[in-house]
Amino acid sequence: MKRKVAVLPGDGIGKEVMEGSMKVLNAVADRFGHTFEFHFARIGGAAIDQEGMPLPEETLNTCKKSDAVLLGAVGGPKWENLPGHLRPERGLLGIRKELGLFANLRPVTAFDSLIDASPLKADRIKGVDMLIVRELTGGLYFGTPSERRNNGKEVVDTLHYTRDEMERIIDQGFEAAQKRNKKLTSVDKANVLESSRMWREVVEEKALNYPDVEVEHMLVDAAAMKLVQNPAYFDVIVTENLFGDILSDEASMITGSLGMLPSASLRSDGFGMYEPVHGSAPDIEGKNIANPLAMILSSAMMLKYSFDMNEEAESIEKAVKEVLDAGYYTSDLANGSPKALGTDAMIKKVIYQLEEADATAGIMEAYA
Ligand code: NAD
Repeated sequence: MKRKVAVLPGDGIGKEVMEGSMKVLNAVADRFGHTFEFHFARIGGAAIDQEGMPLPEETLNTCKKSDAVLLGAVGGPKWENLPGHLRPERGLLGIRKELGLFANLRPVTAFDSLIDASPLKADRIKGVDMLIVRELTGGLYFGTPSERRNNGKEVVDTLHYTRDEMERIIDQGFEAAQKRNKKLTSVDKANVLESSRMWREVVEEKALNYPDVEVEHMLVDAAAMKLVQNPAYFDVIVTENLFGDILSDEASMITGSLGMLPSASLRSDGFGMYEPVHGSAPDIEGKNIANPLAMILSSAMMLKYSFDMNEEAESIEKAVKEVLDAGYYTSDLANGSPKALGTDAMIKKVIYQLEEADATAGIMEAYA
């Protein structure tokens, strides 16, 4: 299969970790007989420096002509004092809006070999494997611009959702649960908010279309507590923008390192943008110590959600797990140990593990 991928490395360590994603995807292409065509474009600070704006038209066109987008990270001290509309983060908000990406998916997996890196006790996080599906384009963060005001004595933000916006994200939640362990927790604040009461209605209606998925409602305050008390309880959580923002950051801390967390932002037709949760980490830029695994795991999500290449995606996830199980870590996971692998060496380990699996498969076939 041939697929076009828009590659937006961005700033800081974004460029370093993107290198890992492309090399790993090339290894997957060799193993499974695919072609991934990479089309490069600038975003964030890199685009400001070259083209004077964080999201050039050409970048958007490259993305629109591609089958999926990989993004590194944007931002850094160099661009911090620019006016709001020219800051690198504008590129990120702009691209999500322009591409119509309304569903943010963040998996949180506690790798056995990294359990000590978590701030929670090992017995609490063992077996954690959840996915948070967050609505990305509505709710309190966007509201109704004409109603938003602050006159110094009174301030108003509005929470606005249409039924259609709720339906499409709730469908994403059910579909994700169907592909996983078939348990969906819908998070709201239906005891207080009108919008949450409509959300519950929509969940109940949609549940009829997914009879194989067990669904429950949970208030957001209870969900926040449960995430710390028993995170392994969850399979898929679906929720609106603000609740999802807070809960996904809370959940992300379970794994102990930002360097391990991938994410996807999707449309209904399967098109998506895939990026690590972490930022451009200017403090470690150019030192070859950035953990490339969040970006590599983001490309595995691309294979799964945009290209329907489940086996290929699992081969990346398996290789990452095996490298960690064998005791290889980057310095963010190894408590600064001098034995920690650099970015390049970690990328090589993952590729070696992928190729090793390929060679083993060859031997097994020969004996079959
Ligand atoms: P950050 O995620 O860049 O870094 C936070 C800390 O985590 C730093 O100490 C960093 O060294 C470490 N870290 C992050 N990723 C790592 C990795 N892969 N391996 C090892 N260590 C890693 O967040 P920040 O410092 O708050 O922000 C830096 C810049 O990134 C800012 O300009 C911010 O606006 C931007 N940012 C961008 C995104 C994005 O592009 N999606 C997200 C968050 C922050």
